[in-house]
Amino acid sequence: MKRLTILFLANLLTATLFAQITPDAEYAINQVNPDHIKADMTYLADDLLQGRQPGTDGFALASKYVETQFMSMGLLPGVDGKSYVQPVTLKKGIVNESESSLVLVSKGDRTALVYDEDFMLQPNLVNVMSDVSGQLVFVGYGVHAPELGYDDYQKIDVKNKIVVFFNQAPESFPSNERAYFSSAPVKYEEAVKRGAIGAITMQLPGDQRTSWEAAVRRSKQGTSRWADATGKAQNTFEQLKVIATFNPANAEKLFASSGKKMDAIINSIKNNKPQSLPLNLEARMTVSSETSSIATSNLIGIIPGSDPVLKNEYVVYVAHVDHFGIGVPVKGDSIYNGAHDNASGTSIALEIARTYKRLKEPTKRSIIIAIVTGEESGLLGSDFFASNPTIPQQSMVANFSMDMPFFFHPVLDIVPYGAQHSSLSKPLGEAAKYLNLGIGPDPFPEQVVFIRSDHYSFIKKGIPSLFIKSGFKTVESDKVDRSVADVAWRRTTYHTPQDDMSQDFDFNGAATHVKVNFLTGYQVANDPQRPTWNKGDFFGGKFGPKLIIEKR
Ligand SMILES: [Zn+2]
Repeated sequence: MKRLTILFLANLLTATLFAQITPDAEYAINQVNPDHIKADMTYLADDLLQGRQPGTDGFALASKYVETQFMSMGLLPGVDGKSYVQPVTLKKGIVNESESSLVLVSKGDRTALVYDEDFMLQPNLVNVMSDVSGQLVFVGYGVHAPELGYDDYQKIDVKNKIVVFFNQAPESFPSNERAYFSSAPVKYEEAVKRGAIGAITMQLPGDQRTSWEAAVRRSKQGTSRWADATGKAQNTFEQLKVIATFNPANAEKLFASSGKKMDAIINSIKNNKPQSLPLNLEARMTVSSETSSIATSNLIGIIPGSDPVLKNEYVVYVAHVDHFGIGVPVKGDSIYNGAHDNASGTSIALEIARTYKRLKEPTKRSIIIAIVTGEESGLLGSDFFASNPTIPQQSMVANFSMDMPFFFHPVLDIVPYGAQHSSLSKPLGEAAKYLNLGIGPDPFPEQVVFIRSDHYSFIKKGIPSLFIKSGFKTVESDKVDRSVADVAWRRTTYHTPQDDMSQDFDFNGAATHVKVNFLTGYQVANDPQRPTWNKGDFFGGKFGPKLIIEKR
């Protein structure tokens, strides 16, 4: 009797624990097929598609593939009910290096610096010729964060001057706040607000995130922004007439006249002390840009919900399908296949769609699968969709992003970026428990992952979001520490032509990402309450409440 009671209680506990995960959902995830993911990735990352750069035939092939997959699954066309294709126009600029320059002037002495060796310039998408002269002012990280008691601008006036700052944000900030304040647009906006007319940015000397050589290679691809209906590039910070990136190895050239030692400056930066100082130096910068328009597209498919009211709300899954195309050869290969980045996320999103389509009873809310363009140029396709959604913006209740989640080994635990900010942590916790997955903290706060993928476009519109990556729990058979291996991958393979299908992927690990993203979204889509930001949350406060205020 006692045993029976315990058994009964245990069953009851399981039933309440996973009350939201129905037999129907269980059936659907049991059919998740790693071979589907492998097959989709194998096509999308093939040399035939030439790196899927927006505007190329390779991108068009990838796009057509996704479109026909949507069709064969029976997704509803997400654009006016007629088409899966949401056209996106990108304005692209490439610097004409021979007509661009950066000259430093100190007490009448002019030093012309060398392009690619000392500096690079960002193309100006609004004015093909743009120049600026002004005093250089160092402003630390260029961060104004009164809510965190930190302000690099507190003692200095930058009006009509050129600001110089390091990338990133103070280590003392909580991980995601740090990510927010490291974002270039947030820093540019602050500089513009204070009247700056140009900017020079650089990595902290010794920062291992990416090499100067990789940054130079990448800059040759140009810079793009999405254009509005009139063809004007958006989010350009025109008041900053020239924006330069400086080689941190040569940073001494900027600080030589400041009367301060470089080491001392770096030290106080590393000790999270706000700082600013005039560099007693003038810069004259000229940038000549060649601009062009690129016609590209997002793909939007819908799985309609079953509830007469809630079906007008949407859980959005997003993955970018674009990559870098053909570029500077590395180890004799010039095709940037982007197998992990992000044929993988696209393929996972397609399998998530198939999983929803397997349900006998569709979820109450509708599901959107958005396969987007232009992520590699700055989250452009997702920002375009979040800013110009094909359904009312307020009807998007949650976002899930799939972008190179890491599956070079079995996935035993996950790192869910965004979980600590909203009520999405609850369904996520249920899904993880059900799948027997551990949940780990952000292992690389310095990578500012939270602002580096498409979910961030939705967060900026106040939509609670999750970006789930694999964790680093090890098993005995692991030959190397997973976190070490993943950092090494970022350094050697990330954004190179070597990110191709010859890598040792674990497609069962990819299937785990399908399951955890599906199961979490499934609960959200059936919950009568829409997800909310946590009370007092930083991102909810920055982006969320506006929606609530508008509603009142
Ligand atoms: Zn990428």
